[in-house]
Amino acid sequence: MAKPAPKVAAQGSGLLGPFTLTADSIAEHIEPLSIGAYALGRLRDGKFFVRKVGRDDRDLAGALTAQIGAHDAFKFRSYVSTRKAFEKECQLFHSFIPSGTAAHPVRPPGTRFVCPVTDCELSGEGWASAPERLT
Ligand SMILES: [Zn+2]
Repeated sequence: MAKPAPKVAAQGSGLLGPFTLTADSIAEHIEPLSIGAYALGRLRDGKFFVRKVGRDDRDLAGALTAQIGAHDAFKFRSYVSTRKAFEKECQLFHSFIPSGTAAHPVRPPGTRFVCPVTDCELSGEGWASAPERLT
């Protein structure tokens, strides 16, 4: 099977950026200890190519800092709720199928959040009662 071409993050991704992935840039754009979802990738000819998506339920800036050197650029959005961040991570995962993100996002521990993408097998009530980790 042919490897799918990297997808360009459209304006409609709902994320801010792209910004270069450096400590200064992270500090400039992201509040300390915030919840958020993000996309990591590279910039080419002014376009952002998503390689990986993720979220952090406590320290978005710390999660991005840990990726410095592995990726050129990031986009992000911060949220006040882990549910919103999880749902955004799911939407990013389904929209871009990033090559650097192997598995479906895992919901925050202790929650019963489900994937908001309706044709995902992990959406709906079935998954609400499933174990927290899929593997
Ligand atoms: Zn899903």
